[in-house]
Amino acid sequence: CVRTRVAPSPTGDPHLGTAYIALFNYCFAKQQGGEFVLRIEDTDQVRSTAESEQAIMDSLQWLGLQWDHGPDVGGEFGPYRQSERSELYKKYAHQLVEQGKAFYCFASAEELEQMREQQMAEGLRPKYDGRGLLLSEEEIQANLDAGKPYVIRMKIPEQGTFTFNDYLRGEIEIPWENVDMQVLLKQDGFPTYFLANVVDDHHMQISHIFRGEEWINSAPKLLKLYEDFGWQAPVLGHLPLLRNPDKSKLSKRKNPTSINYYKEMGFLPEAVLNYLGRMGWSMPDEREKFTLAEMIEHFDMKRVSLGGPVFDVEKLKWLNGTWLREEFSDEQLITRFVDWKYNANTLKRILPEAKTRIDTLSDLVDLAGHFVAGMPEYDPALLTDGKAPEDIVRQALQFFIWELETLRTWEKSAIFAIAKKVATFHELKIKDFLEPIFVAITGKKSSTSVIDAMEILGSDMSRARLRVALG
Ligand code: ATP
Ligand code: GLU
Repeated sequence: CVRTRVAPSPTGDPHLGTAYIALFNYCFAKQQGGEFVLRIEDTDQVRSTAESEQAIMDSLQWLGLQWDHGPDVGGEFGPYRQSERSELYKKYAHQLVEQGKAFYCFASAEELEQMREQQMAEGLRPKYDGRGLLLSEEEIQANLDAGKPYVIRMKIPEQGTFTFNDYLRGEIEIPWENVDMQVLLKQDGFPTYFLANVVDDHHMQISHIFRGEEWINSAPKLLKLYEDFGWQAPVLGHLPLLRNPDKSKLSKRKNPTSINYYKEMGFLPEAVLNYLGRMGWSMPDEREKFTLAEMIEHFDMKRVSLGGPVFDVEKLKWLNGTWLREEFSDEQLITRFVDWKYNANTLKRILPEAKTRIDTLSDLVDLAGHFVAGMPEYDPALLTDGKAPEDIVRQALQFFIWELETLRTWEKSAIFAIAKKVATFHELKIKDFLEPIFVAITGKKSSTSVIDAMEILGSDMSRARLRVALG
């Protein structure tokens, strides 16, 4: 049975890249009557959150990419959340040690840091030097008996070249000397991506793996693990990464990358999916507008072109417009509008703030229109006509955006703390700095609380408005 999967790590907003990889895996499986699996790779206990997992699932469902097996729906090879499979990974890590294919390393973080510093001082590329391999059986046992913390690392050949056949790229060669002795099991007993990924793809009977090209260099480690376990490896292919219009890797610095942003902006899931389907792929007749069902019908992974597809929001907008005009009746569009934001849920979020400032219901449109609008329109001069000097305001806004990019929990007290920090750094009164933020977010000089509005609008939409304000 053909079985593909998407395996996101729930460490942030639902990424366009995840949807794109999911779409291609979905089409490949569905065209052949196969199954599509969602696996949550939450082995990074510090960065993974339940909110991010939920947001990823919601956004894939919003797009219409429903999985056959997954954490919520179960399936015969579950559980589908890696944090619930820890014992399995431990067992396999220790099995590899027993078979002489992996080894214990007891080196402390400081010891390894010293090793790296010394290597750099000698002009060498820092790399784990295999010191764990030098320990005798007795030393290892003594360390284990003493309860010394350890990691388990995989053995890697010292010489030669690893060759594998990429489904999309043909033969790829990587010299073993460029491959490190990867940690498989961490000191806390949790697996790294490499171990968990291989154990799960095998147990979940994944037949084909299509993932982003940033993983090419890890292919030798993954495929060697299959060999070490004596398992047949799935077919492996690496899709091109999405690019910004300037050809750099699509990143939240330059473009909104969260699917939530596109949803909030009022893009239609059909159009977003259609556009993602055109990233490196086209219909045999080159038509630009197609449905998921049509894509599945004509899908051919071999026709993916590797040239770095550009995700251009302007083109997406155009495509969305054609969907909106040509594919929906007025009745259907009314339903879309209501589902999107013209509903009680949206009002529930806005009203508590707005109530104290309106006298008639119609006042609400002006006061709180920015909660619904995409990008607010305003005279750019508004942005810098406050007390603070223009160049300082612009610089502070730029710093504000950068700081917000690193914010893990999008919550008003944290947003305010950043605003305060940036203002202090630029010797601005917080009140004077909130003014331009106000304009960028709401398009006006006064409205409901701007920090509350940012919390409600979400990270991508807020940052996009700040970016647009800077021009
Ligand atoms: P950003 O650069 O916007 O901060 P990121 O690289 O930090 O993004 P991650 O959280 O590392 O994003 O990635 C989330 C998921 O999206 C991963 O599965 C990753 O492979 C995928 N991804 C990230 N960037 C791209 C891209 N340009 N094209 C395709 N997939 C991507
Ligand atoms: N958890 C990895 C990611 O989010 C999965 C990569 C893979 O598909 O193997 O990118």
